[in-house]
Amino acid sequence: MTDIGPGNASGVPPLLSVRQLRKSYRSGSGVLEVLRGVDFDLNHSGFVAVVGQSGSGKSTLLHLMGLLDEPDAGEVHIAGIRVDNLPAVRRDKLRNTDIGMVFQSYHLLPEFNALENVLAPLMVRYSVYEWMRMKKVAHSQARALLERFGLGQRLHHKPRQLSGGEMQRVAIARALISQPRVLLADEPTGNLDEASGTGILDTLCELNRQDGLSIVLVTHDASIARRADRIVRLVAGHVEIL
Ligand code: ADP
Ligand code: MG
Repeated sequence: MTDIGPGNASGVPPLLSVRQLRKSYRSGSGVLEVLRGVDFDLNHSGFVAVVGQSGSGKSTLLHLMGLLDEPDAGEVHIAGIRVDNLPAVRRDKLRNTDIGMVFQSYHLLPEFNALENVLAPLMVRYSVYEWMRMKKVAHSQARALLERFGLGQRLHHKPRQLSGGEMQRVAIARALISQPRVLLADEPTGNLDEASGTGILDTLCELNRQDGLSIVLVTHDASIARRADRIVRLVAGHVEIL
């Protein structure tokens, strides 16, 4: 993998960058062009909000950056290495190790408790033998993350026994257990009341400022976007930097 992608003035490639990304969906007899050549950079320890009206393609862009879907054209680079064209197995692995994702509806496994949900990405990653060997360390890391997010008394609660804000904090802990290079969050406060939503945003800001975690936050809400360092807007399939 010698393909070095776009760089900045210092010659260090951005942590995440997309170039001329295009994505269309078939709709009935026609084609809906959602992304028509999107360029986007996220620097190391950066915090960017992506805003745009409902249907402007924010989730589509986040899914492409998170390697959950493939673009029709264009490129996605992580730390200067092109990743969108890797074989599916390699992309799955990168998604498990380098990219943490958080969604509006949490996507927790209902039959797993909080601790098990946080451990799930590691259980998927390792063989049974490796897992037996590292289980204890992994458990204490998962417990520490949940304690950090104020869930020390909720380790064995199932999602249905948690509030929305608590479920989202479990989801953030799950996204962080692999120590990813970047956190991609799609309307993470969209289902929460204002106080819980503010708590989640405070957590994201702290992870960015204290831990240097690089974050892309998708939101349709301007007041939420202002918590980020930089705001980009999706309009008519292109990016405007605000
Ligand atoms: P946003 O997150 O900004 O609200 P999305 O990225 O979810 O927007 O969707 C952008 C547009 O693409 C919308 O009009 C949506 O209906 C359409 N779309 C999204 N996913 C699909 C899909 N899998 N198939 C067809 N159309 C889709
Ligand atoms: Mg969306």
